[in-house]
Amino acid sequence: MTKSVVVVGAGIAGLSVGCYLQMNGYRTRIVEQHDLPGGLCTSWRRGRYVFDNCLQWLVGSGPGNSLYDAWQELGAVQDRDMVDHDEFVRVIGADGTALVVYTDVDRLERHLCELAPEDARRIRKLTGLVRRHARFDLPLGKPSELMSVPDRLKAAARALPFLWSLARYGRVSLPDFAAGFRHPLLRTAFTTIIDTPDFPLLGLCVTLAWMHNRAAGYPIGGSLEFIRAIERRYLALGGQVEYGARVDRILVEDAHAVGVRCADGGERRSDYVISASDAHTAVYEMLGGRFVDDGVRARYQESRIFPPLVRVSLGIARDISAEPHAVVQLLPEPLVLGGVEQRSISIRHYCYDPTMAEPGTSSVAVILGADYDHWRSLADDPAAYAEEKERIAAAVIGVLERRFPGVRDQIEEIDVATPLTFERYTGNWRGSYEGLLITTENLTCRPRKTLPGLDNFYLVGHWVAPGGGLPSGVLTGREVAQLICARDGRPFRTSKGAPALDRS
Ligand SMILES: Cc1cc2nc3c(=O)[nH]c(=O)nc-3n(C[C@H](O)[C@H](O)[C@H](O)COP(=O)(O)OP(=O)(O)OC[C@H]3O[C@@H](n4cnc5c(N)ncnc54)[C@H](O)[C@@H]3O)c2cc1C
Repeated sequence: MTKSVVVVGAGIAGLSVGCYLQMNGYRTRIVEQHDLPGGLCTSWRRGRYVFDNCLQWLVGSGPGNSLYDAWQELGAVQDRDMVDHDEFVRVIGADGTALVVYTDVDRLERHLCELAPEDARRIRKLTGLVRRHARFDLPLGKPSELMSVPDRLKAAARALPFLWSLARYGRVSLPDFAAGFRHPLLRTAFTTIIDTPDFPLLGLCVTLAWMHNRAAGYPIGGSLEFIRAIERRYLALGGQVEYGARVDRILVEDAHAVGVRCADGGERRSDYVISASDAHTAVYEMLGGRFVDDGVRARYQESRIFPPLVRVSLGIARDISAEPHAVVQLLPEPLVLGGVEQRSISIRHYCYDPTMAEPGTSSVAVILGADYDHWRSLADDPAAYAEEKERIAAAVIGVLERRFPGVRDQIEEIDVATPLTFERYTGNWRGSYEGLLITTENLTCRPRKTLPGLDNFYLVGHWVAPGGGLPSGVLTGREVAQLICARDGRPFRTSKGAPALDRS
């Protein structure tokens, strides 16, 4: 008998688990509150500009990385052009000195040693770690719950080359490592490019190793087009998506999940329920906090989460394609914006993607740190909220004007997204942009994808995979599909999708 599955949320995780279950003969329906797929992985149009919210780099964008196979299974990368940047990011000090984080590790080493010869030993330690992780992969294996002893031995053998660095550097945070540089720009730059507390040094090294290997590029077409390709694959596999339907309740009978109830009161019954939406809401609101133990409580009430952001998107009638695509500008004096003291601002243009803006114009994003409670407190006063958004846009344009004189008069579109915008459109708890924060404490943790005392229910996405990102969606979705197949005694099968691009 064909079993049915309801999936809450059509972000990358919901679409991934839907695709894999359809490949294995399940009847799935995704219920999504928004009128389009993608969740955080989205883009939107303002006038003649497209503003892209997510994809700066896609892990597995090129062959030789396991995730490339998964993206092929999801029909997302076939025929798609990728851009592999020469620079990850350029950090510009308040005095104009530039530190370039090149994606080529040899070039990076040469550049940093020229900039700060006094730090040569530490620089080589960093680049040595990047080289050591050149073969590091996120394998598409079985979830640990299904691994036999030989499977575990094989996995351990694969991990062997990295055990030394894990033992030696697994507990070292990027801020602690950066504090050891003598050159002030190196010290600041390496804590500013990934500005989250206790971020693991190895997290940066692995990312740079993937970029060096040309396996973490940018897919032309941007985030929404990437997701649309996976949605097409899902629909072609026979899946169903219901848009504009917000799930309020996960229905439970005799400690089994049996379906969902939507805000309009309508029920969708099924054999399994998978939450691919915010886990805090699923655990405490949709399930009323009934299936919680110390582990779940620690994860969804006490764990650190990726902080929220303010994103200022600008459509500019000026060609800035000759400028570096990603810049972190250190400010001479901190600016207090959105309740946070900003010591730098991150500026990114998308001129390398012709689908984002017409020739001669530029789609630009400026990202700032944000304080969720600050924005929540403004929410009851729409005028004050709007005023704060305007104040932030004006301050950002002021910084850009110093970098690109005359730009103020060339701005055609301004769009400011706050933590509340992220929360409203995607449901992510406290506007988090990537779920559970990855730290030196949880670097190798694999949270459970089930809840204690509740059968036929699973969680997928960046709330069950510290570090988040699109890999968390495809990997957790694939694993949960395997768990369900194993439970029903079915072999897990996958297939590759047709070309990704809609050429109609
Ligand atoms: C600025 C920014 C840059 C990023 N850059 C990158 C990058 O370069 N590379 C990368 O890999 N990742 C990046 N990410 C992270 C990535 O976007 C996320 O980690 C990933 O998209 C999360 O996917 P998800 O499916 O787990 O969750 P989400 O995308 O949050 O999807 C959850 C879905 O559930 C739906 N939903 C929620 N509640 C309900 C409900 N009650 N009923 C029905 N539906 C519901 C939501 O509408 C949403 O569609 C970035 C994110 C941001 C914000």
